[in-house]
Parts: sequence; C-alpha cells; structure tokens
Amino acid sequence: MASAPHPGFSPRPSTGGRHDLVVLANRLPVDHTVGADGRPSWRRSPGGLVTALHPIMKQRAAAWIGWHGRPGPAPAPFVHDGIHLHPLALTGDEVEGYYEGQANATIWPLYHDAVEQPAFDRAWQDHYRAVNRRFAEAAARAAAPGALVWVHDYHLQLVPGMLRQLRPDLRIGFFLHIPFPPVELFCRMPMRDEILHGLLGADLVGFQHAQGTRNFRALAAELLGAKTTDTAVWYEGREVTADTFPISIDFTGQQRLGIDPAVQARAAQIRRELGEPRTMILAVDRLDYTKGVECRLKAYRELLAEGRLDPAETALVQVAVPTRQEIGPYQALRERVECEVGRINGEHADIGRMPVHYLYQSFDQAELAALYLAADVMAVTPLRDGMNLVAKEYVATRTDGTGALVLSEFAGAAAELEQAWLVNPHDVDALKDAFVDAAFADPAEQRRRIEPMRSHLRRHDVDAWATGFLHRLEPAGADRTAAKVLRTADRWRAGSAGQHRGGVRAAERTVRPPQRHNVTG
Ligand code: UDP
Repeated sequence: MASAPHPGFSPRPSTGGRHDLVVLANRLPVDHTVGADGRPSWRRSPGGLVTALHPIMKQRAAAWIGWHGRPGPAPAPFVHDGIHLHPLALTGDEVEGYYEGQANATIWPLYHDAVEQPAFDRAWQDHYRAVNRRFAEAAARAAAPGALVWVHDYHLQLVPGMLRQLRPDLRIGFFLHIPFPPVELFCRMPMRDEILHGLLGADLVGFQHAQGTRNFRALAAELLGAKTTDTAVWYEGREVTADTFPISIDFTGQQRLGIDPAVQARAAQIRRELGEPRTMILAVDRLDYTKGVECRLKAYRELLAEGRLDPAETALVQVAVPTRQEIGPYQALRERVECEVGRINGEHADIGRMPVHYLYQSFDQAELAALYLAADVMAVTPLRDGMNLVAKEYVATRTDGTGALVLSEFAGAAAELEQAWLVNPHDVDALKDAFVDAAFADPAEQRRRIEPMRSHLRRHDVDAWATGFLHRLEPAGADRTAAKVLRTADRWRAGSAGQHRGGVRAAERTVRPPQRHNVTG
C-alpha cells in the first residue's frame, strides 16, 4: 500500500531541560484529593506502572508528564514523593475528542479486535493530534540532552514521531499496554499511516504479546514500505527495535498479602457470609465490553439450569469496577449485565442465598487479595485483553498452591500462564466445561498447575519488566545504567505492600475503599 503524507509538524529547536528520564502517560501518577480539614492535596494513584517506576524515577530525579484528570487549566509543575510532575491541561472539548473519542471510542475498540464497533470522527482526530503535540512539546522542554523518554500507551502514539523531530538527541521508548491489532483491522483506521509513523519515531517499541510485535512489523512493511527483521524495523534511515515485554505484577507484595493473617481472616469471613458454598467462583473486571462478562454469565446460567453446578452450593462473585461511564457502549453494557445478573438470581436464588453476587464497585488491594484467597475458581475470560493483571495477582496470592484459574486464550497473560485452564471465551460450551473441570479439580491437580505459574511470576515481576525495558532503551555502553538503581525497588516496595494498585489505566476506575465488608449482591 502507498504511504500517505504525514500532516505537517514544524519542529521547534529546544535546548532541553534537566531530567535524564522522562515518563509520559495520559494521566499523572497522582490523584487530587481533599483532606478532612478541607485542604487539597495530591495522593499517589494506584497503578502498577508507578509502583514499578517510582524507585528508578526517584533516584534519577525524573519527570512524569500527564493530564491531572480534570478539564481546564493545569496546576504548575510540582514535586511529589521525589518525582517531578508536569501536569498538562486539557479543555473540555479535548477530553471529549482526544480521550473519550479518539482514544476510547476509536482506538480502544479497534485494537481489541473490534469486539465493539469503533467510531471514527475527524474532530476527535484533530484533538488527538493537538494533545499529542502538547505532550511532545512538554517532553522536549523537560528532557536533558540525550535523556531517556518513555512514552506509554494508546493515547500517545503520535508522540514519539513528534518528539523525534523536536529533539533528535533523545532515546525514545514507547510501550503499548493494550493489544496491537492485525493488518486487516488496523487498516480501518483513518490515521493509520500517521500512527505508524508516530510509533516509528521511537528507538524501542514494546508490546505485551509477540503477536502484537509481529503485527507491528507487518504493518510497517506493508503500509510504510519499511524493511524488517525479527526484532528491528528500518525506517527513514533509522533502526527501530520492536519487541515483546509482557508487563507483570509486584509478586512479592502480592504474596505478602496472601500470607497476611488479617487478609486470611477476611477471606474466611467472606466464605461464611456467602453461606460456605462448596465452590466460590470469582471474577474481577472493569466493566468493559472487552472483558467477556456477558459470555461468562451466559455459561454460568446454563450450568445452573442444567444442574452441572448446583445453585445451592455455588456462588459467583462478580466484581464489576465502574469505568468510562460517560461513553455510550459502557452504559449499554452495564444495563445488559445487570439484566442478566437479575435473570440468573431470579431463576436460581433462594431466600438468603444468591448464585450471583454482583458488586458494581472497586476494592482496595487487601480486600481484593481476600477475595482471591476465598475463591476456588478465578474466572478471567476476556474476549481480548492486553495482559490481565488480575490473573497474575490471583496466582501470586495463592501461596499454598491451591486454586484454579480459568483463563481466556485471548488475554496476554495466557502466553505465560500456560498451566491455567485455557479457554476460548466465545465458545460457551468450552467455557462451561472449563468452569466445571476447574471447580472439581482435586488439590493435587490444582498444585500441579499453579506452582509452575507461581515460579514464572516470581522471576518475571513488574520490576523485571520495567528494568528490562529501560535496559534495552539505554544507549549501548552508556555509563548511566538503570541497573544501578534497580535494587532500590525492593526497599521501596517493603513500605508499599497493601496499596491499591492497577495498570496504567487505574485512574480511570472509580476507586474508593470498600464501603462495606460483606459481599452480598
Ligand atoms: N483492581 C483494584 N480494585 C478492584 C479491581 C481491580 O485495585 O476493585 C486492580 C487489580 O488489582 C489490577 C488492576 O486493577 O491490578 C486491573 O488490571 P487488569 O490488567 O486486570 O485490567 P485493566 O483494568 O487494566 O484492563
């Protein structure tokens, strides 16, 4: 295919700032809060990304550039917990066009196999360009000569190309936290060449899954005529490395929660409150159409109707974390899911006993760990998911080696957690069989599966992910090496166990502490 011209972007020379590591993400790693005394303050937001990067960033007096979360003017730059925060302003129109529109109504569904129809809008695209340019200019101002700049996720795919024009001296990395789609899907995107060109402005482009990396190389060759090898793309006279870096969790912190007596006591209490079911199945998802909640509920309803699972002895706890509630398809999904939950409970509940406990809320990390410990079966069955950290957290929490993970083949985590009950979530009969097999697996079978997954995650935790990426981004032979500061991670973590965490999208959740300590729907 012929390559389309890229919209003009006039470089402005910059002398460079003073940070030798700069991170860019849609959101800053802090949330604005108002204390009991009425005084506003900033609190570190939940997020696996900031957990992983904090020690390295603090050591380097690094900068983080991101939106502060509300439309309107941005606060002045400030330092929080050793990290220099550079808030960027978005207008109300930009929040609608760049964030809700182009990022979450075009790119998000398209990159997730178009499980929901992507919407295309030229005004959204203009907002996306304008906001990406603002990020690139802010990075050009903040970065010291030759600095490392790490750009995160689908909101900012034009930034590497824009930044390279402004500051060719920088080492630029980009990591995509969601899947990267195959050629035939990506080609629907009106901005397809522009996005590829943007990504290829980086020195290193990282993906969650090898398939995404292959898709990227194939697209660069097909749409832009780039030459490719197994790990490199040659474009405009530069070598761009494209490789796979599966993100992970704080294994040690998660494991610590699993052996915490308070968490264990809470897990026992949850089971008592559920009426001591023979089998507790747990699902924890943002209420997103990619997460396969409807297929899962359908499979469960049929299992109850057929008597393969006894409603008197089985409880499904579905945590559905509110997310993107301004966007139409999310509102429609919520209505359909709540209708189905009502149908299952209407058909199979008894007084004081419900087969589905539906919790449209979010929990802190300790409560979540108690749910993981309480659950015999963890159902992680997205239709498409970049990684799925919940699956990894469940495995890490189960320190005694019991528990059963039913995992979608279409979650990035399936490439690593091969011993799970892997299933195609579109195949309702296969889902049903997997739930029954997992529910009736004996402890020896459970251990045979969970132990190798635990030892994999112990070695491949979020620290290994972040440092692995930065090592590859670091210019060969550079003096300043991330390795010098990596070991601070463990020390820092020792003080952070039990914090509510999440992915780079954590700030999109409506996160609040548990309102009540029972799990009745
Ligand atoms: N999470 C949480 N509280 C909740 C539900 C989820 O803190 O009530 C966290 C969970 O521990 C995990 C993250 O949110 O770290 C979800 O990440 P995942 O990759 O599974 O899905 P995403 O929401 O990023 O699509």
